[in-house]
Amino acid sequence: MTVAREPGFPYEFECKRSGNCCAIPGGFVRVTDAERCAIAAHLNLSEIAFASRYLQPDGVHLKEGFGNRCTFLQDGAHAGCGIYPVRPHKCREWPFWPEILTDDRLQQLVQRTCPGIRAIDEGS
Ligand code: SF4
Repeated sequence: MTVAREPGFPYEFECKRSGNCCAIPGGFVRVTDAERCAIAAHLNLSEIAFASRYLQPDGVHLKEGFGNRCTFLQDGAHAGCGIYPVRPHKCREWPFWPEILTDDRLQQLVQRTCPGIRAIDEGS
């Protein structure tokens, strides 16, 4: 695993496979039309079948499983994503979402949630 940094963020990130980012209370994953097609194809499902099994009634958010877990989270000592090659953009961008830069509470929540985040020392 490589350590990632993005301009403006006060931390760096190296995934520890906790799965915590896929089980944030109140969190949700929105999928675009293109992502919905790609995930359905990856699962060898029609779009209608995919939507009925894995999307909320609004048709754009993934269903949640037990305990706020994403329906595709494969939990365990080394958690993983069941659709990793076609996971949504929002998941790929973790923990460097633009809205984090303007929302202190969200930034604190993200930093508490993810064991792969480490504050960057000034001057490093
Ligand atoms: S789609 Fe995969 S990466 Fe995204 S929240 Fe669900 S399990 Fe996590």
